Amino acid sequence: MTQPKIQQNMSVTNGRLNQAQWLASPNFNVRPDNTDISAIIIHNISLPPNEFGQVDANGQHYVKALFTNRLDWDAHPYFKTIEGIEVSAHLFIERDGQVTQLVNFADRAWHAGRSCYLGQPECNDYSIGIELEGSDYQPFTDQQYDSLAQVIIALYQAYPKTRRHLAGHSDIAPERKTDPGAHFDWARLRYQVNQLLS
Ligand SMILES: [Zn+2]
Repeated sequence: MTQPKIQQNMSVTNGRLNQAQWLASPNFNVRPDNTDISAIIIHNISLPPNEFGQVDANGQHYVKALFTNRLDWDAHPYFKTIEGIEVSAHLFIERDGQVTQLVNFADRAWHAGRSCYLGQPECNDYSIGIELEGSDYQPFTDQQYDSLAQVIIALYQAYPKTRRHLAGHSDIAPERKTDPGAHFDWARLRYQVNQLLS
């Protein structure tokens, strides 16, 4: 008897991560024809910046409200500076490790903006975007690394061309973006992913 090669419990069916909470974002469109999903892009986001778990008057997490075009732009002065933006990611991972999916992986989420990875422009066309609740100035949580590693294994299985193509937003848009930031521990993530693969 051999051990199963991959020990994890997350999986993807029909473009959805089975273990994620589903919250549909209107901010997506179709990927270009014949585009293979071939990269995973890691981001951080917090609303207001550097504050975590903040909710609106309806109890809706501000980041989830943003990704579903329901953010009250008057609720905080910072929100006025981004008023009207329409953005999304495929997945959002909160500080406690909870994973929410906002866009089907088969569809094109709006997370990268103008970008280029290994000479291939327009990363939104062919990547999966994962937002971690966080900032450039604070460490991420153990639960976020645990969830992210499991998510990545599930994505590697469902979309084999993403294997070994993990990048940060700052890698694909270096002149515009700094996330996931210097506190994001790539070595730890790769170690945890490799542990799950071994
Ligand atoms: Zn980003």
